[in-house]
Amino acid sequence: MAQTPEANVVFGVFNETSDHESRVALTPDTVTRLRKAGVTCMIEQGAGNAAAYTDEDYAKVGATVCTADDILAKADALGFVDRPSEQMIGRIKPGTWVIGMLSSFTDEDYVAALASAGITAVAIERLPRQLSSAQSMDEMTSQNSVMGYKAVLVAANAYGSFLPMMTTAAGTIRPAKMLILGAGIAGLQAIGTARRLGAVVTAYDVRPASKSEVESLGAKFLDLGIDLSRGQGEGGYARALSAEEQAQQQAAVDRKAAEFDIIITTAKVPGRKPPMLLTKAGVGGLHRGSVIVDCAASELGGNVEGSQIGTQVTDGGVTVIGAPYLASEVSTTASNLLSRNVADVLAHFLVNGRLEVRQGEELDDAMVVAHTHADSNDDKKKGE
Ligand code: NAD
Repeated sequence: MAQTPEANVVFGVFNETSDHESRVALTPDTVTRLRKAGVTCMIEQGAGNAAAYTDEDYAKVGATVCTADDILAKADALGFVDRPSEQMIGRIKPGTWVIGMLSSFTDEDYVAALASAGITAVAIERLPRQLSSAQSMDEMTSQNSVMGYKAVLVAANAYGSFLPMMTTAAGTIRPAKMLILGAGIAGLQAIGTARRLGAVVTAYDVRPASKSEVESLGAKFLDLGIDLSRGQGEGGYARALSAEEQAQQQAAVDRKAAEFDIIITTAKVPGRKPPMLLTKAGVGGLHRGSVIVDCAASELGGNVEGSQIGTQVTDGGVTVIGAPYLASEVSTTASNLLSRNVADVLAHFLVNGRLEVRQGEELDDAMVVAHTHADSNDDKKKGE
């Protein structure tokens, strides 16, 4: 992080804790880093409690612990785990910067609301992740990695047998057979975690590069018997499959699924509804006691037909867990990583001690989805 002690930018973070959210977008170690860059931090009371950081922890490192109203009145930039609610957008003063996961690929109305409120909006989901200078800002990687790890623990917990092979005086227990569908950041972390717990792991992804990545972690690559190798899209991501390819894939996955005790799905295509990989017929083919964790589950549907957020048990005794919020369940580490990502995004926009959008700069062009050209520092001074 650049040393710009002359900066006079105020960065504020709210308490976003909810039923499914325990993370916080600022942790005390990041306060220290930001202070060295000349940024003053404000945090809403209680914001870090669910991630095991007390108000005293923040105060000790020099953050101002205060109310949401104080932050709204004084902050030049606001950092979010998620994004501000539409109601909160109405309370943010024009010229303020908002940094978060804004769902800008799928929610144009929301971006329009940010723009008409005079907010400069930085959408982390648009980070050009292949740039080496962007690695420390990559919240998708940090949080998906946490999610992949936790998905295995959740599956293991719901499964009524051991993951590792175990020889006991009463007989030998065979290891669990686990299938990971979608072998990106979350899937690879799930493979590593499952292998460490002793499961026999098989994985699948449409990107041709994933076969060697899966095998390098000691898992087997699933042969679906169909060629979807054109599944690689732009920027190293998968592309959305055609309806015909998708039907072929579902039929093949449904057939293979019955061989496994646990299935974890993490497949996504940026800016699209998650692809459905396993249909009800496939779920119906699984044995009683098997477990599915669908990390892509959402209101729009997930990788498993009929999966819903939360736990359901089918008539056939298959536990289906729709689990999009798993990163939040590892709240301390997830917050540490996320806070570093958000702070490094903020630091990127600090130019000579001020927040600035540089036209033609790759990260700025990619991530700034709303910008009024208002100068937040001047606005703040005018308001004083
Ligand atoms: P993601 O969360 O968008 O998707 C998760 C996985 O689902 C991906 O691996 C994708 O290929 C897979 N998938 C999509 N549709 C599928 C389908 N129909 N069937 C099976 N699998 C399907 O992506 P992610 O995990 O964040 O990243 C994916 C890849 O992007 C990485 O593995 C890497 O190659 C690349 N990446 C590169 C960098 C970098 O260059 N620094 C950083 C991050 C990611």
